[in-house]
Amino acid sequence: MLTRLHFIDNESTAAADGRVLEVLDPSTGESFATIARGGADDIDRAVRAARRALDGAVTGLPFRGPWGQTDAAGRGRILAALAGLVAGHHQELAELESRDTGKPMKQARADATALSRYFEFYAGAADKLHGQTLPYQTGYTVLTVREPHGVTGHIIPWNYPMQIIGRSVGAALAAGNACVVKPAEDACLSLLRVAELAAEAGLPAGALNIVTGLGNEAGQALAEHPGIDHISFTGSGPTGERVSRAAAAHCCPVTLELGGKSAQVVFEDADLDAAIPVIVNAIVQNCGQTCSAGSRVLVARARQAELAERLAAAFGSLRTDTATNDADLGPLINARQRERVSGFLAQAERDGLPILARGQMAADLPAGGFYQQAILLDAVPRDHPVAQQEVFGPVLGISAFDSEDEAIALANGTPYGLVSGVWTENGARQMRLARALRTGQVFVNNYGAGGGVELPFGGMKHSGYGREKGFEALYGFTTLKTIALRHG
Ligand code: NAD
Repeated sequence: MLTRLHFIDNESTAAADGRVLEVLDPSTGESFATIARGGADDIDRAVRAARRALDGAVTGLPFRGPWGQTDAAGRGRILAALAGLVAGHHQELAELESRDTGKPMKQARADATALSRYFEFYAGAADKLHGQTLPYQTGYTVLTVREPHGVTGHIIPWNYPMQIIGRSVGAALAAGNACVVKPAEDACLSLLRVAELAAEAGLPAGALNIVTGLGNEAGQALAEHPGIDHISFTGSGPTGERVSRAAAAHCCPVTLELGGKSAQVVFEDADLDAAIPVIVNAIVQNCGQTCSAGSRVLVARARQAELAERLAAAFGSLRTDTATNDADLGPLINARQRERVSGFLAQAERDGLPILARGQMAADLPAGGFYQQAILLDAVPRDHPVAQQEVFGPVLGISAFDSEDEAIALANGTPYGLVSGVWTENGARQMRLARALRTGQVFVNNYGAGGGVELPFGGMKHSGYGREKGFEALYGFTTLKTIALRHG
């Protein structure tokens, strides 16, 4: 049985009260590890460690600690070393992630590659974050400088832990913040290993701390802690709202990366040969547990039958198997998630939605695993829960439209606004749709669920606010100071 503890001040540390949580393998439902069950005391220790790394021992004198004294080029060098170590431990990290989350190995490997790439990207960006000089009255020079927020909190979900720590902590460290991370209780193991590698890469003690535990204990304590200067939250809407309220009590800015109900809009002139594999992958990837999953297909009525038939053929051949057998889909993360998906499917069945195809389940799957095959639904009404709410499973719904305006209204007609895809060869229509869709990213004749380290990512509406990834994230992890010099 694997035992993992918090990582605070570059050391493995048990919870202050010694409590632990069991970790289940989603492929079998069996316990294979324990992690520390952190609480407010552990969060406080981590926040103090981060503050010392940044500011040193004396209150009120900022940036005197070892991390605060590391200049931008130095931060970039440490992140570059970390990117190299992650690449060198690629297989080990992928195996840990796959066991912990049930991801097929090919997805876990892709996540480990993305993690290394995030650190590489932010290593290169660290010393390129410039301020400006501003025109002002004669006799003055005015400039802006970007400074780190200070101690940043990072609350991470279980679906892409490595990718999300990469984009969030990578950018925060590059900008000079010290970080306290609270991973999801279902997916901690890879992140604890990443923190060890960061120490090996030369990150000073306290610059990156990981406290594991439950959301309503360690997570809530992090959001409430008055020593946290910025919170990056990735997870569900209701939790994001709770975190924002807790942070508001100490005037702490929050970035919210929440859920989605992303649409792929297929017009009558779309190249279906190109579109179909992309549409399938966008919902099947990570067993549909992707915030930016393309979970709705909106199709011009003239192509509905053809698209439905071809998607049904593709869905019928999708296979669900254990994480190690590396099929199209692994298990869902836990029993609660499987019940959630089953609940949506039961409602679809009660409401008479046509099930066009079901994927295949491998024979002899372990009885305790959390398996779900891919499901394709047709003629989903615009107000049905499957069209409006985040299922977070491998369930794709097709709906037809009769005009471009109807397509736009349908695509925008959910509370969410994360990502959208448009499939058409008509250039003017591509641009009209790209401007009309209320989502943080629009993909035309492609779809990048979660992809693109360089591409700013984040939501509109109930998908959240703030941007992570790309250079834009560095602005989010800094605060702007204006300095006005009167020199005559
Ligand atoms: P969740 O909201 O249940 O949990 C997210 C994190 O918040 C976990 O670490 C959890 O322990 C913590 N948490 C729970 N209660 C808390 C509280 N009261 N205070 C502080 N922290 C608390 O979400 P989940 O089920 O882990 O992840 C799935 C959700 O995440 C989906 O809605 C998905 O769309 C979203 N997500 C969004 C993005 C994005 O970038 N937009 C990326 C991945 C996942």
